[in-house]
Amino acid sequence: MDTKYIFITGGVASSLGKGIISASLGKLLQARGYNITIQKFDPYINIDPGTLNPYEHGECYVTADGMETDLDLGHYERFTGIETTRDNSVTTGRIYLSVIERERRGDYLGKTIQVVPHITDEIKRRILLNATKQPLDFVITEIGGTIGDIESQPFLEAIRQLRWELGPQRALNVHLTYVPFLAAAGELKTKPTQTSVKQLQGLGIQPEVLVLRTEHELNDHIREKVAHFCNVDVAAVIQSQDLPSIYEVPVNMLRQGLDAVILQKMGVKPEKTPDLGSWRDFLERRSKAQKEIKIALVGKYDLQDAYKSIIESLAHAGTYNDRKVKAVFVNSEGITRENVEVQLQGMAGIVICPGFGSRGIEGKIIAAEYTRSHDIPTFGICLGMQMMVIEFARNVLGYRDANSAEMDNNARHKVIDLMEEQKKITQKGGTMRLGTYDCRLLEESKTWTAYGKQELIRERHRHRYEFNNLYQSVFESHGMKCVGINPTTNLVEIVEIPALKWYIGTQFHPEYSSTVLHPHPLFMSFIKACIDGTTEA
Ligand code: GLN
Repeated sequence: MDTKYIFITGGVASSLGKGIISASLGKLLQARGYNITIQKFDPYINIDPGTLNPYEHGECYVTADGMETDLDLGHYERFTGIETTRDNSVTTGRIYLSVIERERRGDYLGKTIQVVPHITDEIKRRILLNATKQPLDFVITEIGGTIGDIESQPFLEAIRQLRWELGPQRALNVHLTYVPFLAAAGELKTKPTQTSVKQLQGLGIQPEVLVLRTEHELNDHIREKVAHFCNVDVAAVIQSQDLPSIYEVPVNMLRQGLDAVILQKMGVKPEKTPDLGSWRDFLERRSKAQKEIKIALVGKYDLQDAYKSIIESLAHAGTYNDRKVKAVFVNSEGITRENVEVQLQGMAGIVICPGFGSRGIEGKIIAAEYTRSHDIPTFGICLGMQMMVIEFARNVLGYRDANSAEMDNNARHKVIDLMEEQKKITQKGGTMRLGTYDCRLLEESKTWTAYGKQELIRERHRHRYEFNNLYQSVFESHGMKCVGINPTTNLVEIVEIPALKWYIGTQFHPEYSSTVLHPHPLFMSFIKACIDGTTEA
């Protein structure tokens, strides 16, 4: 079968969940046995979101091959279990950069470089790129932003051209809109959807499928009305009502026939109905897991999306441990010696979150000290691990000024220091230690047991600083062990205090690789330790 392309656009408002719809559709097509990939095209000018403040754009997700990407790629992976790559995340900045580099090289000598055709051609090339590298039945392309945004225009023009070139059996548009409920009138309103579809039509794109986000059930009358005004079959007007969990969306989409209608429109005879067996098992287990366990997220970003992958990883591990994890954000900027006990009261465990810069780090260090001295399960991730190390250096080893070179380059004890290969780097974008690296685990450590006694693991990274190996032996002799080491560079990737129930810090980001069907082993073991701790108490 020739590769088929599904474009997901959004109208009326942002944050309607295009990423979840794209991931759900991917999941359903995958369950039908197709090879798929899901990619995201973002209309902003940054080359990647790596340099964006999480307040602007939420978490920065990192692919195995080391691309800093939009957090929607995290959804794609968590839903499908299929790893994405740098080809799955493209921004306007990357498009322009490659066109401008080519222009400088002289590839277009004599030509005026224009948005149409040069930028749109590059967008088209990127949309088609994944399928030139691997056999794919379906490529789902999510276009960031909302119809009507000035910056989305070249992407929509590229889609329009591709649909024309590939034909209706190979290219199709799914448009996601919003149907608001006006409480005063007691009515659901379809006008914004009609307007949004008209805007798309004005750009030469007729959506074949509409997904209507709504907080209230839409009746047949409304669906017929939308179909009638938007030139869409009634069967292709799908409603996506608010659900208690994003993981229920694939099942809801299956029930509504989203995948079936797409297949039929693209000329594919749907064979067997997708087998969502283990997915449904997960949902069932999740709904049965009512017993709550509270985990503190100690960080500085007062925004859910900033720690998206961590929250989801905790939720996955919670389900498989038959618990409902309540992740409670505790702002590290507000943590003091005096209030730490109150702030962490009732928490079965804490995650010390990743981050950059010195804002809020002293609070993380105080939290680490508190949980270490009270033997509360603690999971430090990246900057969180570095803070555990600094806390140990200051309070156990007695290096009062211990710090990371990131925060104080003049500290006498830089227990966290800049990596050698980072010292000459001046550019900020895409220059961290990114993507997967090997890590050898120390036998008999808690981490090794958590990973099912594997000797070698691979995890994703995103950092510039590292544990300073000059201090390894003094840390170890005082009880903090370096239990995960990169076999080629000797970098310390994991520290743990074996004498405590669960006190582990990882320089890498395990949260990027936890999926619904494969919860991450470290999160699994962390939650288990948290549960054991609460029953004992
Ligand atoms: N700021 C730290 C570093 O660059 C940690 C980064 C992170 O938490 N992702 O090493």
